[in-house]
Amino acid sequence: MQFHIITLFPNMFDSYLSESILARAIKEKKIKVTFVNPRKFVTGKYKKVWPDGNISQQIDERPYGGGPGMVMMAEPVIKAVESVIRKVVSSKQKVVRKIKIINFSPSGKKFDTAYAKSAVKKYTDIILISGRYEGIDARVDKILKTEKISIGDYVLTGGELPAMIMIDCIARQVKGVLGNFDSREEERVSSSETYTRPEVIEYKGKKYKVPKVLLSGNHKDIENWKQNKK
Ligand code: SAH
Repeated sequence: MQFHIITLFPNMFDSYLSESILARAIKEKKIKVTFVNPRKFVTGKYKKVWPDGNISQQIDERPYGGGPGMVMMAEPVIKAVESVIRKVVSSKQKVVRKIKIINFSPSGKKFDTAYAKSAVKKYTDIILISGRYEGIDARVDKILKTEKISIGDYVLTGGELPAMIMIDCIARQVKGVLGNFDSREEERVSSSETYTRPEVIEYKGKKYKVPKVLLSGNHKDIENWKQNKK
């Protein structure tokens, strides 16, 4: 599974992707994550070369119809996505590529584990467009035929965390990413309560014990307990 992230802030992903399970998944080539900064595709009057040689590329503009905040312009984002598609299509890979383009919005379709599971089956490449400011010019969605996805009923400052959340959730549905594929809790009876050593914890004079049933060795009782704790 390959993820291609369109973002103004690729560095935001570094720390999360460079540790633990996802870092290993990338190293072992179970997943791949690439970045394209749409600012690179800003041209015309929005690209300025200053006397000191510095180049600035403005990607946001005022919204038509008024209102607060700025909106990311469509064309640089479309060009960024097209550059990814070109690369994917021209790359010599054994499997036929199936590309999905996702744009984020708090009012999009709600992302969940079922979506993650079917995404692994249906696509080889997922392009995630991480918006900022007031979002992206809506023509991006019409032109690129994106699917609008929300990760929950709250508004964030940008689509970078949503992209990271989707990568994390989809990656654990890819075979070989989790040490033990069956440890995916959606595949077994699990509970929201788990315990490990030691058996008794003493805190401020009070003893906190592991539920007896978990020490019983009786698998049926344990499964029942877990089922009830759901
Ligand atoms: N005014 C916009 C909100 C912009 S928030 C609107 O109502 O749609 C800026 C960006 O953050 C969005 O473009 C999107 O990429 C991301 N974002 C914010 N909250 C999100 C959520 N709950 N789910 C997915 N993406 C979200």
